[in-house]
Order: sequence, then structure tokens, then C-alpha cells
Amino acid sequence: MTTLNLFWFVICLIKSVVFGKMKTLLLITLTILAVICLRLEAFPRRPKLNQIMLNRLNEDSLRTTELEKLLNKIKGKRDIPNVKLDGSGVQSKPKNAIVNHVVHIGIDGLKPACITNSSTGSPNILHRLGKMGTSTMVNARTTIQTVSAPGWSTTLCAMAPTSTGAISNSWTAPWLGTTQDITPVTGNAHPMPCVFGTIKSQSPDTKTAAFYDWSWFVNLGNKSIPGSLDVDYFANPGGRDNGYGDADEEIATEAVKYLKATLPSSQSSYSFVYFGNVDETGHGYGWCGPEYETEVGTVDKLVGQVLDAIDDVNMTSQVLVMLSADHGGDVGTKSHGFQDDQCLIIPMFLRGPMIKRDYKFQVEVRNEDMAPTGLYMMGLLPSVWWKGKPMTEAFIPPPPSPV
Ligand SMILES: [Zn+2]
Repeated sequence: MTTLNLFWFVICLIKSVVFGKMKTLLLITLTILAVICLRLEAFPRRPKLNQIMLNRLNEDSLRTTELEKLLNKIKGKRDIPNVKLDGSGVQSKPKNAIVNHVVHIGIDGLKPACITNSSTGSPNILHRLGKMGTSTMVNARTTIQTVSAPGWSTTLCAMAPTSTGAISNSWTAPWLGTTQDITPVTGNAHPMPCVFGTIKSQSPDTKTAAFYDWSWFVNLGNKSIPGSLDVDYFANPGGRDNGYGDADEEIATEAVKYLKATLPSSQSSYSFVYFGNVDETGHGYGWCGPEYETEVGTVDKLVGQVLDAIDDVNMTSQVLVMLSADHGGDVGTKSHGFQDDQCLIIPMFLRGPMIKRDYKFQVEVRNEDMAPTGLYMMGLLPSVWWKGKPMTEAFIPPPPSPV
């Protein structure tokens, strides 16, 4: 009862005493009516407030339910315990996914110091990836030997040649029956745990694809690791007017078609897109000469086509794009493979959600960090054999943390 109601009640009592019974009854009746009216006026909002709170609770429940659905959708395919891939296994608990799609572009023999002076100025690599993401031209290193098979096996299998045995371009998969000087740490009996197989062992529905025009990649494809790739596309540079140049264009065309179809329609995917003609041009005309710089401009356009494909299906904010090389090359020579900075330093670019923009790596990163970074961002686990680690310096703080 409010102070006003109490006041009226007291007045009525006084009047009933002063003016007699009839007036008293009337006044008491009026007072009761007044109290009822005042109470109705004072508290009409209570049921509305309750309704609002109820609505809020319902909304919160709805949000919670939707959030749980989303989280479960993401986690559903990750909640797999230590899965074995031919004895590989994976490390520790699953992590949250930051992205569901990774596009990894590999450019053979791309020397960082020669990207800026290309015939086009390399706007796609330097601006659309570099300015929009995290990169380095000086702090990323490949492995020794600084040649292609060691470089790419290290990149895709996250282990150095001392672990894989892939010490030269003549290396072929020993589990297919060839004899190699160095036995893979995982043995000769079964495939190494490379990126595609490691993904499939945890997330069979994740689409894996590799587009390449260097035939050596069959050692890491379906022929060597059965079932690891949904799309295993080889563009043969042989018998063409412009060899690897024509093959690179075919790679871009096919990758663009695939990405436009796959990114919007699949729950998750990991695609590797490889271009071989920069290396071929270096061998033919010399690293960083005019022909090489023209070719870097050409491959930059092909990179642009891949980035356009991601933009065209409105997936730019949902895809981690990585770009790397396997080695550089010595300026003034037509070779690489030397144990020097010119061959060892490679370019490294990352762009995507939770990746710093226009940031340069201050701490060394390595090509064996590529696959672990891709899987980490996808919420998948690295193989227990892998030596590389996620490039956390590129992550916008606070860094994505394990569940
Ligand atoms: Zn190479």
C-alpha cells in the first residue's frame, strides 16, 4: 500500500468517527475503490515487465540453442579421438574451427626478392594477400636441400627430409616398393601422414583437392596415398607449345571451376593449387632476369584468378588463403639447390579470418608450418609425426585457443 492510499484510509477513519455511520460507509467504500484504482494504476506494468523478461529468457534460450547447434555443427565432425592414419595418429584434443576452407597456393621457385619487380608489380600477391594479411619476404625458410621435392614434401607433410627421406627430386614413395637411402620415420610399410590424409582421417567429408603440373606430386596424391584426395588433378606440361606456362593456365582454370563449385556447397575443404612455370623460367633464363620477372607477373595474374573465384562466391571472409614456395634461386644463375640465403628464403603469405592485416612476420616461420597452420585454423589436429607448428604470430590476439 502506498503512502497516498494510507493517507486516504486514515482520512476515512477520521471522518467516520466525526460524521456518522452512513457517511462513514460511503467514505470507506470510496476509499476501497480508490485504493483498488490506485493499485491498478500503479502496477499495470508488472505483467508487461514479466512478459518482457519471459520473452528475453525465450530469446536467450533460442540464442543458446542456435549457438549450440552451430557449435555442434562445427564440432560434430571434429569430435573424433586419436584417429590412426596408417599408424600416424593425431595430437591431443580437437580445437575450435576458425575457418572451414583453406586454399593453399604453391609457386615453385618463387624468390621473394623478385616479386615486387615483376612485370605487373604483383598486385594480387602483394596487395590482395600481403596488405590484407600477414606475410614475410625475409623471415620464412624452406629446408635443406633447397630443391623442389624436399621443399614440397616438407610443406605438405610438415616434416623435414631427414624425417621423410625425400632428399632429392628422384625420391619416390618407398611404400610403393621403391628403395630410398633414408627410411621415413613412419616406416616403409605405409604412407606418410601428409596433409590430405591427415584431414581425411579426422574429417572424411572435408573435400580435399590438389591441382598440379609437376608430375612428382603423384607421390603425395591418390596413387601414393589412396583416398586422400577427392580431386587429384594433373595438368601435363608435356606436348604443349608453352609447356608449364600452358599447364599453369589450365591449373588456374580448373582450380577456379572447382573452388566456385566447392566452397559454397561443402561444409569444409582444403585445396592445394600449384604453379610450376616460375621455376621452369628460372631454369631456362635465370632467376630474377627479365623473363623470370615477366613470368612472376603472369603467375600473379593466375593467383588473382584464384582469389577472384573465392570473391565471386562471396567466401572471402570464410577462407584461409596461404601462399608459399619451395625454394628461391641464385640471382644471375639458372639454378637453385645451394645452401645459401638466396635459395633458403621463401615468401609466405596468409590471409583470412583472425589473421592480422598488413602485418609482417617478425619471427621465423618455415614451410613445415603451412599444413599445421591450415589444420589448426580448421579445428583439425596435426599428425603426431609433424614437426611444424601453427604460425600463431599471424593470429589476431587473443589467439584462437584450444577447447
Ligand atoms: Zn622447385
